[in-house]
Amino acid sequence: MSASSAPLLEVEDLSVAFPVSQGLGFRRRLVHAVNEVSLRIEAGQTWGLVGESGSGKSTLGRAILNLEKPRSGRVRFDGRLITGGQAADVAMLRRQTAMIFQDPYSSLNPRQSIGDGIAEVLRVHGKAGGTGLTARVNELLVLVGLSPEQATSRPHALSGGQCQRAAIARALAMEPRLIVADECVAALDVSIQAQIINLLMDLRERMGLALLFIAHDLSVVRRLCDQVAVMYLGRIVESGPARDIFDHPLHPYTAALVAAIPEIDPDMPLPGELLRGEPPSPVSVPEGCTFHPRCIQARPSCRQGPPPALRRRGDRAFACVLHEGDDGIHPVTKGA
Ligand code: SF4
Repeated sequence: MSASSAPLLEVEDLSVAFPVSQGLGFRRRLVHAVNEVSLRIEAGQTWGLVGESGSGKSTLGRAILNLEKPRSGRVRFDGRLITGGQAADVAMLRRQTAMIFQDPYSSLNPRQSIGDGIAEVLRVHGKAGGTGLTARVNELLVLVGLSPEQATSRPHALSGGQCQRAAIARALAMEPRLIVADECVAALDVSIQAQIINLLMDLRERMGLALLFIAHDLSVVRRLCDQVAVMYLGRIVESGPARDIFDHPLHPYTAALVAAIPEIDPDMPLPGELLRGEPPSPVSVPEGCTFHPRCIQARPSCRQGPPPALRRRGDRAFACVLHEGDDGIHPVTKGA
């Protein structure tokens, strides 16, 4: 496949597992943090990756950027194989992608001014140097809503929102084609969250970058993203265009998450009526559909056998036995 016809990012059957110790005398077991996940992100698309804490979202984000070693599966970036690929292709991924973390203070060097941090990225990646360096640093600060005068500030002298803007400026210094933003507004006040989301929306329009926005807050994802993937216990259980998923969720887990967004419809049942209990431990995942202990629509057949296979309706995919016999629903075939 030529690089130009390939999606920007293609994830195929990706699995990541970690060994966990269960105490003296017990064998170490594997926790499957990401389980046979497939995802395609086109240039300029904004994907929201949602699910409760422990669903595997962050691990998937890190594995996509080659920061976590997968157990199996493939990641391609711009048509080039990254998992087990050539060093030059991994280096290309590093140059063209960036990650923004939840805690901006931990992602910035406390002993370095934010201007120096941005300048370092520009120099290392050959994006600017010499007399143009300061001008580019100032340009990036202004782009994210900071002032050039703040270039000399250390991270601890800035508010959480300003620090996250500095982290975004540092990420943008690489001129990435894909940013993975992991809960990047979760620790901020609501008003600052709104500013950062507006900034990301603006940058997406202006720079055409693709964004994988990892969040547990669906109201933020609804505002920012045009595509959504819902993760539960390491698997994507539903994916597709954000508007369709928020208006008509096909998977009961998605329906419960959507119902938990208070402003969608205050008359909707409380999420507790749609979602029972807490997610099971990833160390002992239930048989059958892993969501069955919490699913109010579970059938006897949901409790045994392999997890339900993905099925497709138009450009949506979901893993649930419901909607059998509905028009236009087909099994997902590998590679389709
Ligand atoms: Fe619920 Fe069964 Fe669908 Fe799983 S497969 S989400 S248990 S109805």
